[in-house]
Amino acid sequence: MSPKSGELTENVLRVRERIEQAAIRAGRRPEEITLIAVSKTHSPRRIQEMYEVGIRHFGENRVQERESKLAHLAGLDAKWHMIGHVQKNKAARAVRLFDSIDSVDSIALAERLDRTIADLAARNQERGNVSNEIGEIASSNRLRVLIEVKLDPEPAKSGAAPQEVPRLAEAFQRLPNLDLRGLMGVPPYFGDPEETRPYFRQLRELRNALGAQAAAQTLPILSMGMSHDLEIAIEEGATEVRIGTALFGEREGM
Ligand SMILES: *Cc1c(COP(=O)(O)O)cnc(C)c1O
Repeated sequence: MSPKSGELTENVLRVRERIEQAAIRAGRRPEEITLIAVSKTHSPRRIQEMYEVGIRHFGENRVQERESKLAHLAGLDAKWHMIGHVQKNKAARAVRLFDSIDSVDSIALAERLDRTIADLAARNQERGNVSNEIGEIASSNRLRVLIEVKLDPEPAKSGAAPQEVPRLAEAFQRLPNLDLRGLMGVPPYFGDPEETRPYFRQLRELRNALGAQAAAQTLPILSMGMSHDLEIAIEEGATEVRIGTALFGEREGM
């Protein structure tokens, strides 16, 4: 193992310890919380090392970046999450490259994803069921998606407005090839992470309200919490935390 992997091992241990402590404080089981390593800007070699120290979920925020690393990481048995804004014209590529799109924020994008999967499935059938590039999508395999909710009032930030979310959820649940599992959100940045609490709480309450809607399937996933505020997010019910800096160190220029 290179000295770098020793450092990664230590980072992973430290983050797992933080998750565990927060879960225990909140009366939750640490195993309920999935650790997603956000590998944007980091090289395939670093990602490979992260995999070797036990990480099985990775997050990227750009379709193109995931695509450029794909060939180097083909052998990894990991789940890939898209956590950045997906332009509609990249929806088809996103379907091939990711196991979950955690950042769906419009009905138009959801419909585009749904249609892509239907087309892929039809084409695979024609070719006698050969699988696509990552071998995942078959006609019966729905794509896991989350709705990204805009928690930050800053106009440039992505996500669906909270008041739009019930309408989106209803529309997504009617699309046969999508499996809506929950919500994702990024609060504004505060020096004091305690100040993020109302935003995480808002996301949880929104999810709970959707679950109470008649005919709505349950939405178990709450993807919230990053390097500096994961404790608060877990106390407020996060089931997935997206951690970059605390695992990989500072992001590399790309
Ligand atoms: C970069 C990123 C993260 C990770 O942020 P860190 O502060 O480095 O942990 C999490 N979520 C999203 C959506 C991101 O873009």
